[in-house]
Amino acid sequence: MTPADRTVDVVVAGAGYSGLQTARTLVDAGLDVLVLEARDRVGGRVLTEVTPSGAVVDQGGQWIGPTQDRLQALADEYGVSTFPTYLDGANLEVRDGSVHPFIGLVPTSDRDGSADTVATLLDLDLLAQEVSPTHPWDHPDAGALDRITLAEWVESAADTQTARSLVATAALAVFGCGPEELSLLYVLSYAHSGGSMSSLIRTAGGAQERRFTGGAQQMALRLAERLGDRIVLDAPVVSVSYTDGGTGEPAGVMVTAERRGADDGRSSWRVAARRLVVAMPPAVQGRIAFDPPLPGSREQLVQRAPMGSVTKIHAVYDRPFWRDAGLSGQVVADAGMLRATFDDSPEDGSHGILMGFIAGAVDRSSESDGAAGRQRVCLEELARAFGPEAAEPIEFVEQRWSAEPYSRGGPVAGLGPGVLTACGPSLRMPVGPIHWAGTETASVWSGYIEGALESGERAATEVVATLDGTALNRATGLDESSGQ
Ligand SMILES: Cc1cc2nc3c(=O)[nH]c(=O)nc-3n(C[C@H](O)[C@H](O)[C@H](O)COP(=O)(O)OP(=O)(O)OC[C@H]3O[C@@H](n4cnc5c(N)ncnc54)[C@H](O)[C@@H]3O)c2cc1C
Repeated sequence: MTPADRTVDVVVAGAGYSGLQTARTLVDAGLDVLVLEARDRVGGRVLTEVTPSGAVVDQGGQWIGPTQDRLQALADEYGVSTFPTYLDGANLEVRDGSVHPFIGLVPTSDRDGSADTVATLLDLDLLAQEVSPTHPWDHPDAGALDRITLAEWVESAADTQTARSLVATAALAVFGCGPEELSLLYVLSYAHSGGSMSSLIRTAGGAQERRFTGGAQQMALRLAERLGDRIVLDAPVVSVSYTDGGTGEPAGVMVTAERRGADDGRSSWRVAARRLVVAMPPAVQGRIAFDPPLPGSREQLVQRAPMGSVTKIHAVYDRPFWRDAGLSGQVVADAGMLRATFDDSPEDGSHGILMGFIAGAVDRSSESDGAAGRQRVCLEELARAFGPEAAEPIEFVEQRWSAEPYSRGGPVAGLGPGVLTACGPSLRMPVGPIHWAGTETASVWSGYIEGALESGERAATEVVATLDGTALNRATGLDESSGQ
């Protein structure tokens, strides 16, 4: 076997929030850690960019809500403040092509539909409370709940088309998947991990409550500063060979990453470690070759955990003009390209920004429209809701997550029927010296930044527990100034 170029205690593959939290926890435990990140940046599905006009836009994850305590603690630690999502005034419901103002969570233009939506959401929330966020396959009716889709459940649970349509809009915004793509058991366990479906879709008191002044990537950048040259960017892990220690030799991994040289050519780089933490979604992990092959159940899980499909768009204006008309910037639409929009203006109102999601099947089929075609349709829809001024932004930016090779979609994996009951236990189960992190493995706020942080702590704790005490006594804790 070719010797390693480097030897460490633990390699972490991926420098999203889960990988960064894994590394930080391991370093604090005294371990020698190396993080290999495929992209030329940290943060993964969280990316803050500044447009040419100076507008700060979060292209991926952006919100924080109540009970997301790890993320709040990280923001506090780095002095990053938050501010409430803009909520003043009326939201807009687009139904059958007409626009109706409403106040609160549920659109009201169809009174029966509105009442039915509230009742359906309550049913879903009550059912979710019965399903474990960590072991949903243990539910006595797990088989039945995993056999049907959210769409099938809502077809019988709801009486009105309005309620079915609103549940579909919620699924698209939360998962980047239509309700016909999602196992009911998966939705229930996912919702429970964040409290309830209602807490996932609420702005005030829910997952969309607050935003970060200056963007959601800042804490990842600061964590990376602290980790210093323990993080290697532009180094995608391509293969892993491992031994579980069964043959008498110590358990360990040899991780091969590609690195870009000065001449832009790629070369292989081999890092030997006692443990590996893979901190990315299952579908992205599936592109790494393992020797020996991973167990069949893990392979099957990876093939059955596709990412949702989402494009985030931002239309930037010189001011939030819709506020003059008493509008909050939030739209809920029953059809079209943008099923949900929000006011994403900065706290000081120095720009006006409308943000929207193109999600699920519409996102996939909009590939053929191209960026210009998507922009045209999005602006037509924004103008229908907010008037002709909305058709004339000073900038329009889109982030198409399904075209990102190291994300393959977003915001999260969308599991269809039968996957959790058949392959769910493989989600977190270590394979020899290999451990799994990433928000898809989280037991709280799965799919969210908070879940990514929790999964990193859990994976790091597993690793520490499996290693003997000798390595843990080394005083290699983080030093702010040197990153060493
Ligand atoms: C449009 C959108 C909106 C969202 N909104 C919110 C929100 O408002 N609030 C919220 O809490 N969450 C939100 N999320 C979800 C949130 O962004 C994720 O839950 C979280 O960032 C996941 O972190 P992670 O570390 O688990 O995975 P990732 O962020 O995906 O990190 C995985 C890392 O692994 C790297 N990688 C991939 N392959 C390799 C390889 N072969 N070798 C080495 N590295 C590799 C990737 O480049 C990436 O950096 C949103 C996501 C999207 C896409």
